[in-house]
Amino acid sequence: MTTREIIERNLIRIRKRIEVAANSSGRRAEEIRLVAVTKSVGLDQIQSLIDLGVRDFGENRPQAIWERAEHFQSAEVRWHLIGHLQRNKAKRTVPWVSFVHSVDSARIAEELSRIGIETQRPIPALLEVNISGDATKTGLSENDAKEILESAESLTGIQFRGLMGMSSLAGNSADEKREFQHLRELRDAWQLSFGSKLSQNGGALVELSMGMSEDFEVAIEEGSTMVRIGSALFAD
Ligand SMILES: *Cc1c(COP(=O)(O)O)cnc(C)c1O
Repeated sequence: MTTREIIERNLIRIRKRIEVAANSSGRRAEEIRLVAVTKSVGLDQIQSLIDLGVRDFGENRPQAIWERAEHFQSAEVRWHLIGHLQRNKAKRTVPWVSFVHSVDSARIAEELSRIGIETQRPIPALLEVNISGDATKTGLSENDAKEILESAESLTGIQFRGLMGMSSLAGNSADEKREFQHLRELRDAWQLSFGSKLSQNGGALVELSMGMSEDFEVAIEEGSTMVRIGSALFAD
């Protein structure tokens, strides 16, 4: 099989698995956005995915977004930043991205808000919360995430749209399930507490970016609205 055929086969399988997982929890597949994570592949593979109808792409390095978004400028694709953003790269990155999934400090939230105000284009963003209980993993503590939402009134250049999290990927679906469930409960609780503040900038905590190649079905059963899938798309 050619690389393109492998990607097509994998994509069909993943879409089917998304549908089965959604249906098994009373949801519809259309509620879940597949974000193709392309950090480990080249432009040809991205082009294959575009040809197959994929429109959402995730990269964890800002530089990769600059290059790739420019290359595929005419293709009407949406880029999602899913990795750490340094403040000095924010200004150059923001014009290329549809969603920042990885707001992981108050300082980057302030910088993004400043840029959103300056450009008069509020930036859709998710707070990345550390749900794995592993201090070496990325993401805000719950307390720090909550504090950012408490100050949302002064962050008018950001549209807070939801939360992002990664499970501990223990290969133990009971742990993963509990972690994803916890993120959903946080999202629901914070939408109740902060929803009216957030709506002033057009925000609302509706999105849950959770689930990768190894755990996306569990994530969907727990309410994921965006799955970030890389290796399962490209593995032969
Ligand atoms: C690489 C990456 C993914 C995709 O992981 P796979 O296991 O390859 O599906 C998802 N989210 C983030 C933040 C990543 O860095």
